[in-house]
Amino acid sequence: MTETALAWIDEELTRLREAGLLANIRTIESHMDAWVTIDGRRLLNFCANNYLGLANHPQLRQAAKAAIDQYGIGPGAVRTIAGTMTLHVELEQRLAAFKKAEACITFQSGFMANLATIPALVGQEDVVFSDELNHASIIDACRLSRARVVRYAHNNVDDLQRRIAATTDYRRRLIVTDGVFSMDGDIAPLDRICETAEEHGILLMVDDAHGDGVLGKGGRGIVDHFGLHGRVHIEVGTLSKAFGVVGGLVAGNRTIIEWLRQRGRPFLFSSAMTAPDVAACIEATKMLQESSELVEQLWANTAILKQGMVELGFDIGHSQTPIVPVMLGEAPLAQAFSRRLFEEGLFAMAIGYPTVPLGKARIRVMNSAAHSPQDLEQALAIFERVGRELSVI
Ligand SMILES: *Cc1c(COP(=O)(O)O)cnc(C)c1O
Repeated sequence: MTETALAWIDEELTRLREAGLLANIRTIESHMDAWVTIDGRRLLNFCANNYLGLANHPQLRQAAKAAIDQYGIGPGAVRTIAGTMTLHVELEQRLAAFKKAEACITFQSGFMANLATIPALVGQEDVVFSDELNHASIIDACRLSRARVVRYAHNNVDDLQRRIAATTDYRRRLIVTDGVFSMDGDIAPLDRICETAEEHGILLMVDDAHGDGVLGKGGRGIVDHFGLHGRVHIEVGTLSKAFGVVGGLVAGNRTIIEWLRQRGRPFLFSSAMTAPDVAACIEATKMLQESSELVEQLWANTAILKQGMVELGFDIGHSQTPIVPVMLGEAPLAQAFSRRLFEEGLFAMAIGYPTVPLGKARIRVMNSAAHSPQDLEQALAIFERVGRELSVI
């Protein structure tokens, strides 16, 4: 029986189902790793953002267990009332040191970090210059701030400059960009964006969710990649991708971090990360500080996979990172491709409109340091088989 007040939701869901746009959510029955179990079958996993294979790393598991014995599980309250444990402070200090930033504050997720930061910095009388392909959490955070949003063409600094020149009479200004764009794997020209911001005295924020643990020396992120330490005011990051856990962070200028402790609403009104999460993140940060081995492994795997795909004749776009989009064109082909990969034992997601433009559907192949040489070889063999069968190569 459908309640009248809910009928429209049923209709919308039916429409999505009929258009083939209903998200088919797979359930993982195993650890998150290079291989996962789905519907009782072992599959090669090229779907996750688990870049360094830390999601199931023995050292992180151990650290989380030890933290449970010492601190229990929940933080008990929001950070400002009673929810800040020594663990939270240690993680923030370690992340600041790792990223060579003045200070750092952590949040429950990267999404929350954006929701906390943008509305704390700009309001109704202000303007945000935002790359047209920025992540949904940036878009939502901008809306929440009620600032005017001026979108500039993707990674186009000339267009950004034109729009800055044409946008006057605002109290405060902020430029915000993703560091790595997760659908194409391209990198923001942060050096030129930074020069532009400095030239005009505008606050600069980068969301480096896919760059943390991936770009820069030992995975220190996009600011390190471009050598812009101390020049980018706000670096947002996530602990849910390369760090293998869950959580968000903002690193950067000390004054801004202090302000977020006073005015970041998800910090003030939502409880903190749990003790085992934080301890696992501390362990991940320590591992990255001590060795760049995993990051190097990730990039070595990426090179093998990209070269293999190109040799097979696939179009892999213009990725500069471990994200490998295998471009297929129309959404039904990408969906059929993903389904056949799944049947052949490989888990990789088809992505279509509206996440990417019409006619640019693709399989997004996510590399991990956890993949062995045999895993990569097997993955390429499966792509070759399915690619020939569907006349893509
Ligand atoms: C994944 C992602 C986020 C969200 O991070 P979570 O920690 O999963 O909430 C935010 N911004 C960008 C650019 C991302 O890619």
